[in-house]
Amino acid sequence: MRQFKIRNKVYNWLNLNQNITISCLLCRADTTADQPLCRLCLKTLPMPENTCYRCGLPMQASFTQTCANCLKKPPVFDRCISAFSYDFPVNFLIQKIKHQRQIVYLPPLVKQLSKVLIHSYDDESWPEAVIPVPLHNKRLRYRGFDQSLLLTRQLLQSLPDTTSITMDTQLIRRRKHTDSQQGLTATKRKGNLKGAFTAKQSTAFRHVALVDDVVTTGATVSEITLLLKKQGVETVDVWCLARTPVS
Ligand SMILES: [Zn+2]
Ligand SMILES: [Zn+2]
Repeated sequence: MRQFKIRNKVYNWLNLNQNITISCLLCRADTTADQPLCRLCLKTLPMPENTCYRCGLPMQASFTQTCANCLKKPPVFDRCISAFSYDFPVNFLIQKIKHQRQIVYLPPLVKQLSKVLIHSYDDESWPEAVIPVPLHNKRLRYRGFDQSLLLTRQLLQSLPDTTSITMDTQLIRRRKHTDSQQGLTATKRKGNLKGAFTAKQSTAFRHVALVDDVVTTGATVSEITLLLKKQGVETVDVWCLARTPVS
């Protein structure tokens, strides 16, 4: 609790001193407290261009909204929106957040995601609720914090109030501790997740967004989407900081 209060004080201090000069987290050049990555570094972060509306992956053709793979076999979720490609230095920043609890790297990434979302939902309706992909208690104890939950909280704060989206952390629970998905093939990822999540009996939401830091094969978000659709949710969008192609 004490640590939390101190951290809050630091954030408040930073908020009040937005013009104070600090070092850029990546190149150490001078920047301001409200922009922990300098303008130059922000510009060089890998942002996906010409992505498929459905799976969020880059596509060759620019005259269509959906890639050839999704035309043949669309994913179970309805669209995937990411702020970045999972390449250097975004992968480095996300690893720092996840494994070294360097949460100071999170706000600049969240800020970009909120910009992309505002642009993407320009003339479309926003989801009623966002659901952070739940972490199992065992991993939470090991890691000490839940990065999807933190990401979702910061994201909601940075989106306009008019979106009036609520966060739901009760609807989906992770009941099984799964091995890390990293390094597994697409088939193994699917098998690894079998029965990993459970959903509450019913929900009034018809349109939700799942939030995760990185989406790779989409196995986790697909598993949760299937559960949500069984509960009557009609549209499931996926929001992530970074999307990585299937290797
Ligand atoms: Zn920089
Ligand atoms: Zn696609």
